[in-house]
Formats: sequence, structure tokens, C-alpha cells
Amino acid sequence: MLLLSVLDLFEQDEIKSNLIELTSDLGELFARYWEQVMAFNRRGNLALPFFHLQGDGFWHLLPKRGKEDVLNSASQIRSLSRLEETVLGAWLDEALYELLGVPESRSFLRSILIETYFAPEMRGSLVERSAINHEAFLYSKELLGRRNEQAVRETLEWVEACRPTARDQGFRRALVIAYSHRCALCGLRVRTLDGHTVVDAAHIVPWSVNYDDRPANGMALCRTCHWTFDEGLLRVAPSYEIFASAQLRVASNLPGYLSSLEGRGIVRPSEEVYWPDLTSLQWHHKNIFRR
Ligand SMILES: [Zn+2]
Repeated sequence: MLLLSVLDLFEQDEIKSNLIELTSDLGELFARYWEQVMAFNRRGNLALPFFHLQGDGFWHLLPKRGKEDVLNSASQIRSLSRLEETVLGAWLDEALYELLGVPESRSFLRSILIETYFAPEMRGSLVERSAINHEAFLYSKELLGRRNEQAVRETLEWVEACRPTARDQGFRRALVIAYSHRCALCGLRVRTLDGHTVVDAAHIVPWSVNYDDRPANGMALCRTCHWTFDEGLLRVAPSYEIFASAQLRVASNLPGYLSSLEGRGIVRPSEEVYWPDLTSLQWHHKNIFRR
């Protein structure tokens, strides 16, 4: 599963030199493969394969300066934070690294890995997962890259060819990047080393209403703010100030921070083109907000 995730990173052109780092992108891809084949109540630990793949001879860990002895004497490293303290990343045998730069070789290696290490009933869903990861990545690039109305219409045509799961995953990736993992309403930003983030991508006007996946029709929101916004208990004014519904103000059991949001400005992406669209905010005010 680690190698399948690494192949995805090559596919996305994210690996520019022969060093595979412990990034949250890698963690997220690994978690998606894990969820595809493992039971829900078992959390995958990226540190285990990242460390133990050394035993196969083509995967080499590069210690941080001064950590050479720690790495050489370790028979195992089970925690991601400890691994991150110790290594800069892993490098591959040069010949393998060269091969992974070639799309046909990647696709061949992917099939070999899936056929060799997974039961027949799992293979189809792993192939599908790889395809979705790739499509989602391309979709998020489209969403982040297209800026004018004409380009957005072209994206909409492109959407129809995209699998719904890939579209969701791509929309989420675009929003999370645009907002740098920060909740637009309360400002919360929490990320784990293995790529989990507290924010979701929320549509301002729901997808089912206008099929609009532009980042400007969305915000990255933490779970609580997402629910509160979708329930119409908070809204964002054209001035980007937050207003709370009277229903929220009278509730007595609120987490303190929700009631303190009234009158505060939202967190906006650094690029103005991704700021929430005023027409979308107006639609939410009119149709969802509880007056
Ligand atoms: Zn929040």
C-alpha cells in the first residue's frame, strides 16, 4: 500500500528528486488504500512499512544529520513522529527511480504489486482506487487553475466524464489547499502527521442545485462549522463578516467558540479568486439561513 501511494505521487509529478518524504499527501494516499482493503476499526500506521521496506533492499532511509546512529541501531520505529525526527525520507535504487519516471513502467509495477500481494477479491477495488486518486488529483488541478467564467464552463463539461467519488475527492483537495487546511469560519487548523485534517470542503450552494465545484462556491470548514453552516445557523455577509442566526444565539449548550464568531471576519484564501462568491453567499442567506 505504501508503494501504491508512492506510485500515485509519481503519477501526480510530486516527486522531483529521488527522495520520498513523509508528507501529509503520502499519508492521505496511504490511508485511502488502507480504508479500501482493511477493516474500519483498524487504523493503518504508515511508519511501519516506511521503516521496514528497507529489508527489501531497494528502499533506503536517509537519516537526518546527527541521527545516523539512532537509525542504524533501530530494529524498528513504530511512530511517525519518531520516524520524522530521525529520517529525511527514503530513496530508491537509482534504476528503479528512473523506471518510475516512465508511465508504462509505473502501470506495470502497479499491476504486479496488486496481483502479487492482494487477494483476488480486493484487486478490482485497488485498481479503481488508483484511478480515482489520479482523477481526483487532475480535477483539483482543474478547479484551482481555471479562473474565468468560460474556463469554468469548460470544467463543468469535463466534470461529466469524472467519477462522483473522484469529483468529491478533487473538490475537497482543491478547497483544503486553497484554505491551507484552515477552517474559514473559526480558523481552526489541525493536521496529523499521517495526513488527516480537521477541515472538510463545504459547498456554499449545494452541488445538487447548480453543479458548481469552483473553489469560490466552497469553503474549507471544520466539522462543527460545516454542520452549523449547512443548518443555516451561521452565514457569511457580502462583507465576509459572520452572522449568527437568532436560533444559535438562544441555544444554551453551545461550544463557546461558536457564539464568539458573530461579527468576526472569515479566514480567506490568499488568492482572491478563491474567495467565496457573493452570489453563492446570497443564495445561502436566502435559502438556508434561519432568520
Ligand atoms: Zn470551524
